[in-house]
Formats: sequence, structure tokens, C-alpha cells
Amino acid sequence: MKIKMQLHWQILIGLLAGAVFGIFAAVYQLSSFTHDWIAPFGTLFVNLLKLIAMPLVFASLVTGVASLSDVSKLSRMGGKTIGIYMLTTIFAITIGLVVVNMLQPGNSIPPEVSADLQASYQGEIEGRTETIEQVKNRGPLQPMVDIVPQNIVAALSENIRMLQVVFFALFFGVCLILAPNENTRNVKSLIQGMNDIIIKMVDLIMYVAPIGVFALIAGTITAIAGDNIQTVLSLLSSLGFYTLVVILGLILHVLLVYCTFVRFFTRFTLKEFFTGIAPAQLLAFSTSSSAATLPVTMECVEDNLGVKPEVASFVLPLGATINLDGTALYQAVATVFIAQALGMDLNLAAQLTIVLTALLASIGTAPVPAAGIIMLVIVLESVGVPSSGIALILGVDRILDMVRTATNVTGDCAVTVLVDSAERKLVAKEAAA
Ligand code: ASP
Repeated sequence: MKIKMQLHWQILIGLLAGAVFGIFAAVYQLSSFTHDWIAPFGTLFVNLLKLIAMPLVFASLVTGVASLSDVSKLSRMGGKTIGIYMLTTIFAITIGLVVVNMLQPGNSIPPEVSADLQASYQGEIEGRTETIEQVKNRGPLQPMVDIVPQNIVAALSENIRMLQVVFFALFFGVCLILAPNENTRNVKSLIQGMNDIIIKMVDLIMYVAPIGVFALIAGTITAIAGDNIQTVLSLLSSLGFYTLVVILGLILHVLLVYCTFVRFFTRFTLKEFFTGIAPAQLLAFSTSSSAATLPVTMECVEDNLGVKPEVASFVLPLGATINLDGTALYQAVATVFIAQALGMDLNLAAQLTIVLTALLASIGTAPVPAAGIIMLVIVLESVGVPSSGIALILGVDRILDMVRTATNVTGDCAVTVLVDSAERKLVAKEAAA
């Protein structure tokens, strides 16, 4: 426990040192040194986390489901979880829309800056044309169809297909309960043993987290700035206001929604909650990937906050794949910002359409870096804003990805402690009756 308490400070120091080193490297033309000799350690660290994410989701979910005394508990918890996830995402989009409409960051962009930005990022957009076209052609029910894999080995082989593995693990776990005999009991203890081993792997990987985070942040800064920190400064001078509006919206969402949930509906103080999940938040910020952060998120809520493993193993992987509040808020702000910058007016009906489409787009966004900006196309198209407009905001996407991913993970943790508290109350009530 003592080591765990210190871990978030160690990661924070790694993060700050990485930032200082990254800026130093950009100023003193050390970007190729950083790229060749520092950044690979960050990649190595993320690979380790990604490596265990899928086996962990499978083993912990099967173990969790198989430990439930009856299956109806699962549907009760499932309904509650999905309902709260949808609600928090709608709150996030609404907060985003209020902030962007009040502060109007798009109206402060001079037309020549807008043209410049579009011209400089057009090439990058062209590189993504195929993915953008695929996103545009998705039907409204596609996210539902995507839940059921045709082949479990294929699903396990790609981290972005996490929801498919969640589905299979649930199905598998339920059938494990429904077919109790000596053989299935052996399978159950095998998977339980696997789960224990993977949890140990997370512990060991976390020992190198501060170094991994140092390398990730230094690598990210040099990737954005290259050998010329001036590029970043000039980008921020044109898109700084927009960046601040997104970050302000995200902070408001954390304060108004998650803090209220945790403070009034769970057994934790805000300090306990935020101290407990700090390592996961810092990792989400450094990796820009909720999927890669998942093993650490699970460890934080179980070990530091005492959430029951059967709740954490169900609510967190589901949250990582469908509850991307930070992404939804960002998509709402970005859509209105692009419309403002292009001189388009979005009326109330259009803004309501954004609530619906940003909800769907965020559910469809994979929990990996830069996925949110691709799914943004769905929201833009729904209100008639040209999707080429994403060229306007691409320059600062990496920075915003870090902040929105940290928000996504915070949201998953807040809902997990909420569901855990509600389940505990129900169990206590049943016991008293
Ligand atoms: N990077 C985000 C996540 O992993 C998704 C996004 O691009 O918004 O949660």
C-alpha cells in the first residue's frame, strides 16, 4: 500500500521530467536523438501494457462473472452501468456545447489563419481519407453489430476489438455458471489462476512506469515540435483559445458531474477517490489510450479503493469501450468550433443533433490514440459541416487527446465506484430483509 501511495508521485515526476527534457530537446535540436534513443522506451512500456490488456479483460471478467451467485445480478448491474454511462456522456456533450457557444472560440480565428491551417494539414487528412470514408459509410446500428465477433481469435488479436472480447467473456462466464460440473470447475480455477498471474504482471510493469512515462512524454513533445519549438508556439497562438475551451469543458465536467457523483453517492471523499486513481489518470494522459491504461485502472480501483473485482472487471472494460465522455465533449466543441471558423451557423436543431451523434460517435470511438478525431467526421457530417474541416484542428489534437483520455478514464472510475456503492447497498438491504 505504501508503495502504491508513492507511485503517483513517481509517475508525476517522470512526466514533468519528460516534459522538461522534451522542451530542452526541441530547443537544442536533439529531436532525432530523442526519437532514436528515448522514445523507444515509451513504446516498450505501452506495448507491455497493451500485451496484457486483452488477457486481463478476458480472465478477470470470466472470474468475476463466475463468482456471481446468480446471473440476474449481472443484468441488474449491466442495466445500471449502461444507463449511467449514457447519462454522463450526455452531460459531457451538453457542457461542451454550453461552453463553446458561450465563448465562441471559432469566431476569433482570422480567415487567413483558417486557410493556412487547412492548407498545412490537408496532406495529413488525405492520408486518412480511406478511414474517413469507412466511418462515413457506417450505418446507425453498426456499433451493435460490431459487438459480436465472427471469430474469437481474431477479436483477441486486436486491442481495439475489446468490446467483442467483453461479449465473449460474459457469454463464457455465464455458461460456466450454467454448466456446473467437475470439468467446468477445473476451467474456472484455471482462469482464476491466469487472472492472478496477470495481476502480478501489472504490478511488475508498474515498477517501470515512471521511466516509461518520462520517455512517452519526451517522445510526444519532440514528435510535435521537432527541432523547432516555434511551430508549437505559433500553433498555440492560433488554436490556443480553442484548446483552452476544450480543456475548460473537460475540467467543468469532472467538477460538476464526477465530483458530485463521488461526493454524494459513494462512500469515498474526493481526496480518497482522486488519490486512488491518480496513477491511472497520469498514465492515460501519457499514453492517450484508455485501452493501454485499463490494467492500471483496474488495479487502482480494486487495490486503492477496494472496489469488488466482479464489479471492476465488468464496469471498467465496458467503460473503456463505450464511455468516452472526454471524447464526446471534445467532439461537440470541435464541431461547433469548425462551424464557427467556417462562418456557418448551427441552430438549435443542429445542436440537438450534435448531442445524439456525439453520443453515438463516442461510443464507436476506439479507446486508442487519435481515434476521436476520426469519429468526429460522423458528427460533422450530421450537421452539414465539411469533414475536411478537421484539418483546422489537427495540429493540437495530440495535446487534447491526452487531456480527453485522462477524462475518459476518470469517468470510468467514477461510474465504477458508483455502481460498486449501489451494489453494496443492495446487498446490505437484502441481508437486512
Ligand atoms: N484516445 C482516446 C482514448 O483512448 C480516444 C480518443 O481519441 O478520443 O480514450
